Amino acid sequence: MPINWGIGEHITIEPWWLVVIFIIGVTFIIQVVKSIFYAKRKFACPACGHRFRKKWYQLLPIMNNGKGVLLNCPECREKNNCSAVWEEADRYLY
Ligand SMILES: [Zn+2]
Repeated sequence: MPINWGIGEHITIEPWWLVVIFIIGVTFIIQVVKSIFYAKRKFACPACGHRFRKKWYQLLPIMNNGKGVLLNCPECREKNNCSAVWEEADRYLY
């Protein structure tokens, strides 16, 4: 059934739209959870060795490509595959 935008009439949405919205929603939630998980870690820059942290919302568009996470280093401004590292001293901050 097509979407009927007429005033006073019901708006019908095709079922496949619901599937698309559901998939986008699930993907977004996974990405948010992943970002929060990464925000608890520090990233090590392979170029200068600088260790830095990013806010979870800054990590929303990132993807782990297997070699690390592509991020801009705040120290040397280079875009590199940064590996996430745990630091023993930071563990008690959360
Ligand atoms: Zn760097």
